[in-house]
This record gives sequence, structure tokens and C-alpha cells, in this order.
Amino acid sequence: MQVSAQEVAENIYEFQVPLPFKLKEINLFLVKSDDGCLLIDTGTNTPATAEALKANLDYLGVAFGDIRYVAITHFHSDHAGQAGLIQQHSDAVVMMHADSKHFLGSWSDEVGQGPVYMAPDAFFRQHGMPQASIEQFQHMRQRYLSLTLPFEVNQTVDDTDSIRIGDCDFQFVFTPGHAIGHICVYCPQLNLAFTGDHILQRITPNISIHSDKHPLHRNERYNPLGDFFLSLEKTRQLGFSLGLPSHGALITDPEGRIDELLAHHDERLQVMLEAMDQGHQTAYAISRYAFPKYTEAFDHWLMLGETLAHLELLEIRGQIEGVHEDGFIHYRLTAEPAPAR
Ligand SMILES: [Zn+2]
Repeated sequence: MQVSAQEVAENIYEFQVPLPFKLKEINLFLVKSDDGCLLIDTGTNTPATAEALKANLDYLGVAFGDIRYVAITHFHSDHAGQAGLIQQHSDAVVMMHADSKHFLGSWSDEVGQGPVYMAPDAFFRQHGMPQASIEQFQHMRQRYLSLTLPFEVNQTVDDTDSIRIGDCDFQFVFTPGHAIGHICVYCPQLNLAFTGDHILQRITPNISIHSDKHPLHRNERYNPLGDFFLSLEKTRQLGFSLGLPSHGALITDPEGRIDELLAHHDERLQVMLEAMDQGHQTAYAISRYAFPKYTEAFDHWLMLGETLAHLELLEIRGQIEGVHEDGFIHYRLTAEPAPAR
């Protein structure tokens, strides 16, 4: 009953494993070969997920020991959570982009102590998030830490790296945006790409800022939406005809989907300008205007992060400015005349 494996291209199998989130499942992919298999992503470190992974591999006649490579598209727990489990039972080479590696298990509060993926409460407060939402979010964050079983990254991969399995090459493509260090895996012979959370068919990947500094390169501005746009154009250039995403349906018109994602964010940018035009000033207030139907703390956190990513791009484009006032950061349109003092 947990077995969902089906062949989606020659020797490539897709199956789903459950997740303990609102997003109920993730698609995992197995490239099957007699001289060792490649697994793309792993699911969270939860018992039901492990059971489903094993059941699907069993069905495909593959033992953990047959897995030669595990490619992790990015460090989020639904993708990286069970790499450690496979590592315990095989000699699999676990591969990830170097930028991803820094964030394994580090939803850290320790500003100044290495990479910071999550800033402390003060960050959320200065952007206008209510205390109750901050507390609910902190509670959730603790739980998230346990969802990735610790593992060792055996090989870091980047644009020039590839592996060969059977008659096919699998090339790594650096596609930051949804996450720092996100990679897609492209197979030119089969004209397809595993797109991770970079391109999804039914939902738009969350593009977020959750810290007031670049999480990795302290002296650079962190502009994940700008990175995402560049990554979309980079994947468009590959010209593949089938996208295999981590969530939801296969992508049969990747180019069309890329256009839709670009259009979606253009529209979001417009809505946020409209919010500021109507007097909403904090990122939180702007996010409530832009995403009115979301009500839970986890949603507020996603919305705030997504809004900040859009505001950062608008600020870089010179369309808005963020000003520190009374303990908050207020955003306003640059074309607006300065208020009388
Ligand atoms: Zn993700």
C-alpha cells in the first residue's frame, strides 16, 4: 500500500514517501543500474518515511547496499533527512553542493558563530511579526532539528561535476533561490532534469529571507529572488523536455512552467508595491496584505520570509527603501515624497 514506484523514463523510477508537514509527501527518484543506483533525495527522518522508502526500494529489487550515489538537491529535511539512514546501511557516496553542507541541522540562533539560516526573535520582531507567531514558530523550529539524521557529505558537487550511470550522464546544475546550494541534476541523453524544489508544477517554490545578513557570505547582500530568476534562466538554457520535481506532478512543459513562475513573482512584486502604496509599512503587514488567506504561525513565517525576499529585490532595484524607525523596519516607495517633520 505504501508502494507507488513507477518508471517515468528509461530505468528511472519515481515514488512517494510521506512527510510530517502540510506538504504531505515528497517524490524520490531512483536511477536503476546493475553497477549501482543513484537516489535523488531521501525524505525526512521519520519512521513512516523510512518504511515507505524501504518498501519502494524492495519493490524495485534494490537494497540500501545497491545504492552507489545519493544526490541531495538541498539541505531541507524532507530532502536530506534520511541520507544518514542510507549511509548506515551502504557505502553510498552522498553528494551535495558545498553551500548546502553548511546548513545541515543548523537552524541556529548563534549570530556570529558560523552560518545562520535562522535569525533570532529580534529579527522577526523588527519586521512586525506578533510575539505569539514568533513563539509558535520557535516551538516548531525545535521539532525541525530532529528531522535530519546526521550524515557525512562524501562529495561536494557543482556545475562542472557529473556522474555516469549505465549509458547516461548526470550533470549537477547549481540553482540557488529556493535554498542556498540548491542543485538540479540534468541528464542530456534522456533530455530530462531532476528539478528538486527549484521548479515545481502545481505550487511555486518558497523563496525566503530569514536572516538580516547573507547566511553564508557576510559581506554580500542576500537576494534569493534575484538568484532564483537567474537559476530559472540557467535551467531554461538546458532545454530539457521533462522535469522531475520533488513535489507534485511531472513537468511536461518546463519552459512554459518557467515562464509561469517568472510571471507569478512579477505579479507578487506588484502586489507588494500596491501594499506599500496603501500605507502598509512593516514586512509583516505587507505580507498579510499580499497573502490574505493564510492564518497559521507556520504560514506567517513562510509569508514573511517570502515577502522579505521580494522587498529585498525591490530595494536593490531602487523602487523602495527600508528605514529603521522606533524599533521596526518600515518600507516605503522611493517615489513617495518624504513626510513632513
Ligand atoms: Zn525545500
